[in-house]
Amino acid sequence: MAYDFDLFVIGAGSGGVRAARFAAGFGAKVAVAESRYLGGTCVNVGCVPKKLLVYGAHVADELEQAAGFGWTLEEGHFDWGTLIANKNREIERLNGIYRNLLVNSGVSLLQGHARITGANEVEVDGQRYSAEHILIATGGWPQVPDIPGKELAITSNEAFYLKALPRRVLVVGGGYIAVEFAGIFQGLGADTTLLYRGDLFLRGFDGSVRTHLKEELEKRGLNLQFNADIQRIDKLEDGSLKATLKDGRELVADCVFYATGRRPMLDNLGLENTGVELDERGYVRVDEQYLTTAPSILAIGDVIGRVQLTPVALAEGMAVARRLFKPEQYRPVDYQNIPTAVFSQPPIGTVGLTEEQALEAGHKVQVFESRFRAMKLTLTDIQEKTLMKLVVDAETDKVLGCHMVGPDAGEIIQGLGVALKAGATKQQFDETIGVHPTAAEEFVTMRTATR
Ligand code: FAD
Ligand code: NDP
Repeated sequence: MAYDFDLFVIGAGSGGVRAARFAAGFGAKVAVAESRYLGGTCVNVGCVPKKLLVYGAHVADELEQAAGFGWTLEEGHFDWGTLIANKNREIERLNGIYRNLLVNSGVSLLQGHARITGANEVEVDGQRYSAEHILIATGGWPQVPDIPGKELAITSNEAFYLKALPRRVLVVGGGYIAVEFAGIFQGLGADTTLLYRGDLFLRGFDGSVRTHLKEELEKRGLNLQFNADIQRIDKLEDGSLKATLKDGRELVADCVFYATGRRPMLDNLGLENTGVELDERGYVRVDEQYLTTAPSILAIGDVIGRVQLTPVALAEGMAVARRLFKPEQYRPVDYQNIPTAVFSQPPIGTVGLTEEQALEAGHKVQVFESRFRAMKLTLTDIQEKTLMKLVVDAETDKVLGCHMVGPDAGEIIQGLGVALKAGATKQQFDETIGVHPTAAEEFVTMRTATR
């Protein structure tokens, strides 16, 4: 049977664009439907604008440090409107680049909401298209717990477009987004409190990293409240918001920001017209090759709920394009040792197993840990400490995990990701010559096991 397209991609986000471009490059006839914004979450309300705001907040650190290097500065003034307008301009530029990338690679771009109407059929704005393969790459959406007053709260989606920087912010959650935005709001001058329901935030990260970041954020004056959860939110007469906690305490703020995880975006997607099943968490169930339980339909990225990171969605998109249209180049995505960064202030960089995971997996673990005040701070009054940690298998000498909290952690950890992928041993780390003077050299000079 002749189809309109070989591949119909739903969602022009990180994963969808990558799959579409490469499939078209391999000679397939490809369409992409996008209902909201080209580039998806990462470009519009995720990684990119977030990192720009993090840079903005980081300027405060540089200004604070300047005096130690002899600079006398007049009192600075921060204007939120300028930062947001400049950020918006950059996002628009990127939207245009994504459009060109798709169009120049021969992909048919359909603007509108796509709904699957059959095993090989998708409807966009009343028009039906047939396709041999359909790829669901619809991403995720912020999830706010169902509490009274939840409509008064915002999520990351809205935070990027706030008209003004709120004076007092309550950030709820203890994952990537909560920690990153707490740093943004506080760095830019808002009086910020982070509320997390458990004992310590960033569950799943290495224990030393979690404790170290907690201490550093507290040094910076961020108000961290653990074992704290909001029961209801009410609007007060003066327009501010009152959050009543489950333990009865009441906190007043101008903005309540929820970062309590994301759900798969399946709204009005028409899955009821297909044999696509969801897993127990509600994400699209796929096999190792991203095939859903419907033979003509595949899914990648946040909507499958594996690892919700842009580079992972990109790798999955590439794998699908290759498997369908260039099978001789197909390689499965390696989910081991994915490096990742939390762009908190200071940031976290991490790759491989945490100490806790290594012990749980039965490794005999050797830990090398170093805490030091970065050279750059020695001429300032700032007492921030950097943490670096290696988790090593004592029997094989293989480095199982590298963890860092400190300036440029994300930049530094990328290279260590290559080392771990290559299976580097601690001896090979030791034999690597350091780059001096840097903070990063500490990763190759930690000689004595801490435990
Ligand atoms: P998305 O990028 O979400 O794309 C899905 C697209 O599908 C969207 O454009 C959507 O409009 C469209 N769509 C949905 N339904 C339909 C439909 N029915 N019809 C047509 N179009 C539809 N990851 C990192 O690696 N580093 C970071 O620093 C980072 N920071 C983040 C910060 C924030 C605040 C957030 C929210 C996420 C961040 N992420 C980060 C995660 C990253 O953005 C996601 O993992 C990534 O965007 C997932 O890509 P995707 O292709 O699965 O989905
Ligand atoms: P996460 O899953 O990372 O964190 C969610 C947080 O919310 C957890 O601390 C969780 O607590 C808490 N939580 C969940 N439900 C509730 C509830 N009902 N009440 C109170 N607290 C709750 O999600 P995020 O929203 O922070 O980010 C989504 C994903 O996007 C991340 O996991 C990451 O993959 C990606 N991302 C990546 C970034 C990067 O690479 N730098 C930056 C931002 C996002 P608990 O731990 O107790 O379950």
